[in-house]
Amino acid sequence: MAKISVTVWGENVHERKVEFIRKIYPSGMHGCIVEGLQESSDFSVGTATLEQPEHGLTEKVLAATDVLLWWGHCAHGDVQDAIVERVVKRVNEGMGLIVLHSGHYSKVFKRLLGTTCSLTWREAGEKERLWVCNPAHPIAAGLGPYFELAEEEMYGEPFGIPTPDEQIFISWFEGGEVFRSGATWKRGAGKIFYFRPGHESYPTYHDSNVKLVLKNAARWAAPEGPRWIDEAPNIPVDKAPERIELKGQTLHKAGEAGFK
Ligand code: ZN
Repeated sequence: MAKISVTVWGENVHERKVEFIRKIYPSGMHGCIVEGLQESSDFSVGTATLEQPEHGLTEKVLAATDVLLWWGHCAHGDVQDAIVERVVKRVNEGMGLIVLHSGHYSKVFKRLLGTTCSLTWREAGEKERLWVCNPAHPIAAGLGPYFELAEEEMYGEPFGIPTPDEQIFISWFEGGEVFRSGATWKRGAGKIFYFRPGHESYPTYHDSNVKLVLKNAARWAAPEGPRWIDEAPNIPVDKAPERIELKGQTLHKAGEAGFK
């Protein structure tokens, strides 16, 4: 079976600028996420980062990517709009997208979901308990009823997202808040999964349950069929599946390209 081609996009700013974060993630957060995915032979994994030309997301890279993971936080505004549109186009065509933690405020996520994606938060190193809402869902395969992270940032409701197609996880935090911490949507032919954990101050991406969720999610998000092309082609009268006669006045010429 052909491997699923995964690209892990990392902002790669905190890991270079803050020493204690560099100690947690010496190969970068994206590097740690890659190591987790490479525990499975199902994937061929590459990386892309903000500072690369075109943020590492060239037409060629995206065309060859089945599933894109996205971690960003302090530099969402530095992501070029043209690259955002390129990613959105690929999701509509069928590329899977896994948005991680503070990626809730990335241009890509907000553009695809169309809402504020706002939430409440607190950085207190508190315990997070992630409850599995649907044990039969492939993203939850191999997990128990819940798993815990000893130290995480709190994200709380209200979370400004459209109602998810499927709710996979709901989190409870030591301070009392709850949050829809794993949710899926479809956009065009592409599958989107948002997964909450992953604050840069804590070793979340070293956690075995988090690694398991990301492997499950990358398999789930892989494209299921041929790319869907959004070109709105005109079907001329003589190419209709059934024979028809042209009636009345027409504004458009037969076979005119594009949507008018
Ligand atoms: Zn955070």
